[in-house]
Amino acid sequence: MFDSLSPEQTALRQQFVEVGEALSPLLAAAPRGEMPHAAWRLLAETGLFGFPVPVSAGGSARGPLDTVIAFEGLGLGCADLGFLFAANAHVWGAVLPLALHGNDAQIARWLPPLLDGRRVGAHGVTEHGTGSDVRAMSTRFDAQGDGIVLGGEKAYITCAPRAETFLIYARDGRVEGERAELGAVVLERADGVTTAEQPKLGLHGAPMGTVQLPDLALPRDRIVGSAGSGMAMFTTALEWERACVFGPFVGAMERQLTRCVRHARRRRQFGRPIGKFQAVSHRLADMKTRLDVSRMMLYRAATAKGAGRAPVEAAQAKLTIAEAFLQSSIDAVRIAGGSGYLEDAAAAEELRDAMGGPLFSGTSDIQKNIIAGFLGV
Ligand SMILES: Cc1cc2nc3c(=O)[nH]c(=O)nc-3n(C[C@H](O)[C@H](O)[C@H](O)COP(=O)(O)OP(=O)(O)OC[C@H]3O[C@@H](n4cnc5c(N)ncnc54)[C@H](O)[C@@H]3O)c2cc1C
Repeated sequence: MFDSLSPEQTALRQQFVEVGEALSPLLAAAPRGEMPHAAWRLLAETGLFGFPVPVSAGGSARGPLDTVIAFEGLGLGCADLGFLFAANAHVWGAVLPLALHGNDAQIARWLPPLLDGRRVGAHGVTEHGTGSDVRAMSTRFDAQGDGIVLGGEKAYITCAPRAETFLIYARDGRVEGERAELGAVVLERADGVTTAEQPKLGLHGAPMGTVQLPDLALPRDRIVGSAGSGMAMFTTALEWERACVFGPFVGAMERQLTRCVRHARRRRQFGRPIGKFQAVSHRLADMKTRLDVSRMMLYRAATAKGAGRAPVEAAQAKLTIAEAFLQSSIDAVRIAGGSGYLEDAAAAEELRDAMGGPLFSGTSDIQKNIIAGFLGV
């Protein structure tokens, strides 16, 4: 059921393979860690940032399945997984929560420049002191006169150094009781936000950084959602992200497998292609199986999310694909041998990128906690 595409979906995937191929030279020409504006605009012009967004909020409401299929095509056509991850963080972390939870005035003000590529959005949950334990965050906002004051610092925020619009989750001082209630606040760099890059292992096309919020006085209309609804909003946003963020990674897994099969056919040792050694061919068989399972889990989670709540499907997709891509990336280096260990080798780049998967959007351990929780243990 989740392993075949309709002719329209196949055409959509191919359309975005070609967009990925068009992005590649723009990204290759840019210095490492840059997000070239021309590439961002090119992606925005496809309408992709608005695929999961309701028409009433300026999107095309094509739904999550079309969105992940398009991202999968991009991952197949473009090797800069970091840039595609940045686009995903933009869509699932900033665009969609604002579209789903913002009021009319907020949607009118904040969404158009995010949808048409004039701005990059970032979302801030994690802090130096707390990541998995979201409720323990210390960033908070309190009422002050007619407005609010937002203070704290976020860390490991995708696109922070390049973003102009920030959706920040913080303790809502107005409703704080024994358990921290969270709220979400939308703001922009001109409000006094400062950021500092945090250089990282991989996904270089998605620069990461801290976001400093030094007791910023903001109008009250920056609060997104009703009082005390931040945790529910955050949970919804994260569910979307877990269900859909791995579209480009599945495309990358297909590209990776194609390259490894080609290498296993061409590279000869002991007088025959290395693919003739069972150790190598079985590794390829495992990679193919991981790819197909990952794709099915992605489509299943996106389909379920399109129909409503899907916390378990989202957690299972996130867990499965993150771990599958990491394992396949290790196998890809083994198959390439020494050439895969060179700094600029595709296999080495994939392994660095893949290591992020089990960490962002909740670690693999946290996904297992969610799945186990639904089993009643
Ligand atoms: C590439 C990348 C992009 C990111 N982008 C963003 C972003 O845009 N916005 C944002 O807000 N954050 C972002 N993050 C941060 C990410 O969400 C956190 O790193 C993640 O949630 C883990 O939090 P932590 O780093 O504080 O680790 P910790 O929570 O300290 O966890 C450390 C270890 O303890 C384990 N652990 C913790 N609690 C439990 C538990 N209850 N049960 C079992 N094991 C547990 C974890 O699994 C992990 O192995 C990003 C991270 C990465 C790597």
